[in-house]
Amino acid sequence: MTGYFCVMKIIKKKNYAMKLIHIITLTIASSLILLAGCRKSDNNPAIPDLADVVPGNCTTPPLRLWLFSQFVTWGQELTLISASPELHMPDMANFYALHYENSGENQYFGTNAEHTDKINSVYKDLKRFWKYNNKNVFVVGSHGSMMQDREKVFKMYKTVFNYPDDKANRYADSIGTLLKTYPQFLKGDHPAFSFNQLAIPDTTIANVGRIPAKIIIGDGLLKGFDELGFKDVAPQAILAHELGHHLQYELGILKTGMKLVPKTSRRIELMADAYAAYFLAHPQGAGMSLTNLQQVAEVFFNTGDCDFAVDSHHGTPAQRKAATEWGYKLATVTGKQTPILPAEDLAKLFDAELNNIVK
Ligand SMILES: [Zn+2]
Repeated sequence: MTGYFCVMKIIKKKNYAMKLIHIITLTIASSLILLAGCRKSDNNPAIPDLADVVPGNCTTPPLRLWLFSQFVTWGQELTLISASPELHMPDMANFYALHYENSGENQYFGTNAEHTDKINSVYKDLKRFWKYNNKNVFVVGSHGSMMQDREKVFKMYKTVFNYPDDKANRYADSIGTLLKTYPQFLKGDHPAFSFNQLAIPDTTIANVGRIPAKIIIGDGLLKGFDELGFKDVAPQAILAHELGHHLQYELGILKTGMKLVPKTSRRIELMADAYAAYFLAHPQGAGMSLTNLQQVAEVFFNTGDCDFAVDSHHGTPAQRKAATEWGYKLATVTGKQTPILPAEDLAKLFDAELNNIVK
């Protein structure tokens, strides 16, 4: 875990606290893994020959350092409390959205709904651009403030974490007490509690039932990008990337039971970056300026990782930037008359170029 190790060296005096932070951030990182869906696909596109992931130069990107800095303000005690695996504090909001936000109605994005209009408007543009007709893929927000709602927290402990009633009640009370006792948690609005983005196919989950396909965007992640100066482009980039995963589900590039290893995860993620960049740049898509597209490349740079041996490896920051640049250059190569490539064709072009992108 090179990325985490670098940070641990920087703040080595807080070694114990950092180990706990490591536990929390591992939860966050692993929850970026795409769930394998239950929908069968008849499509079986060939998987190209993929270059192995070879550890190389890689630096922890600013977004992750920013998130670490947010944990450090908690101090050791709160880090210890929130790292408790039985409380599930870092997972609660994201898992709630995953299991129980099952409609696009009344959704908002950003702690104060500041990104809602942009996300809704870009989602319409994305579906038009890709001729994406599946009306049952909802975009939902993940909000740590849901932890203030005892009923929701109890339901999570009971159905998702499988606790018996007495334990679910005790833990739901504990969450309420913790949020009241420690102002550092910002009543659940601290970015650590909703630092995520996900694309989920429709699926059935034990104890919960059928959930529709969805895209989840966490307030914490949006806040991180706001703080780094990317508020004008990050919401669009995140949404376009996640819709890219739903295009991959449609095409069978992502499918049920698919075993992801570092090189296959990297391909899937970098391709989703290319899908996003292609839409954001294309004159018939978002038509962003070059300056904004360069910012988008920085957004995806920030979501790269140095976890070369982890099955969910998303590509290094530099590789994600390269995939983004490849996507936006392809979209603008012949100016305003550039026809929109079907998603399937773009995937083929991307695969043909992938080994150069990851160099
Ligand atoms: Zn992704």
